[in-house]
Amino acid sequence: MKKFNVGIIGATGMVGQRFATLLENHPWFNVVCLAASPRSAGKTYEEAVGSRWAMAKPMPEAMKNMIMLDATADIAKVAEQVDFVFCAVDMKKDEIKALEEAYAKAEVPVVSNNSAHRFTDDVPMVVPEINPEHIEVIKSQRARLGTKRGFVAVKSNCSIQSYVPALHPLMKYGVSKVLACTYQAISGAGKTFETWPEMVDNLIPFIGGEEEKSEKEPLKVWGKVEGDVIVNACKPEITTQCLRVPVSDGHTAAVFVSFDQKPSKEEILKAWKEFAGVPQELELPSAPKQFLNYFEEDNRPQAKLDRNLEGGMAVSIGRLREDTQYDYKFVCLSHNTLRGAAGGAVLLAELLAAKGYFD
Ligand code: NAP
Repeated sequence: MKKFNVGIIGATGMVGQRFATLLENHPWFNVVCLAASPRSAGKTYEEAVGSRWAMAKPMPEAMKNMIMLDATADIAKVAEQVDFVFCAVDMKKDEIKALEEAYAKAEVPVVSNNSAHRFTDDVPMVVPEINPEHIEVIKSQRARLGTKRGFVAVKSNCSIQSYVPALHPLMKYGVSKVLACTYQAISGAGKTFETWPEMVDNLIPFIGGEEEKSEKEPLKVWGKVEGDVIVNACKPEITTQCLRVPVSDGHTAAVFVSFDQKPSKEEILKAWKEFAGVPQELELPSAPKQFLNYFEEDNRPQAKLDRNLEGGMAVSIGRLREDTQYDYKFVCLSHNTLRGAAGGAVLLAELLAAKGYFD
């Protein structure tokens, strides 16, 4: 695989920092430029981040002295240097939409962590193991934007990346109804216990917009490319409650599920064990070898013990049992800033690279 030159837009933020550490020594991607708000422009990456560095690993040496660009004013400068960009910025939705389309129109493909374009019907929202075929809609998006190379592809919200993967291999049994309660880590809000001390010994029963995303996004991920757009699935019915809990990293979900044709417990365990997607077949660099991992122990998965399984890219599942109101219930866990954010976007970029979308 040829090496691709990459930019990180929003490099100073929580997700941007995660991109920086994940892309250090990446076999296919080489970070050549960093951008953020006008507040950071002109400073070195080290100066711009200052005391905000929140990763366990140190800032990559090769990036420390890179001079930050202004994500909006310097689009042409970024475009000259890169084959594509990752984008994770904290701006208004309309501004993010405009920014991402401006990069696409400058012929720079954008792999985005932002939610702004998730429901644009010719923008694929991809969990690479589940709906890799949705990237075919990029052809229609390029026609709409009038671009040859440029496009926007997004990953889904971090909250759905624990339970949607666990439900996906069970769709053949006709998943009809899902109830999911998520217990979400503080890094999902771009925070640590130092920056959000109110979360120590606390739980907040509301995360703005999260329940709507958690109920709607799976239906796009399970949708189909029809003509020039992705048409959402109309099943299953999904209801959620999303809570913020005092955990640094790792979103847990307690899931209840009913089926049109109820499988046996053994069939569910077999479906999870045997499930592998295109990233595993193509052996993409960030793909976990075993995507879905079932723990027999009653007290697993645990955020602290299991979130880093396979580099934080695998999903852990446990406590599968029959329920009195739904057919089954179980618990699952995924790392929200790895699989759920930057890692999921890097895996999507690897899929796009392997399929020739950055050529
Ligand atoms: P964050 O830590 O607050 O970082 C925000 C980034 O946006 C910084 O790099 C900031 O640059 C940049 N920014 C702010 N205003 C800007 C402007 N006007 N122009 C250009 N850049 C600007 O946020 P985050 O947690 O990394 O989240 C970033 C995005 O990813 C959000 O859309 C969020 O919803 C999404 N996301 C986050 C997670 C997560 O786990 N944290 C998961 C999935 C998706 P300066 O430093 O220069 O201000």
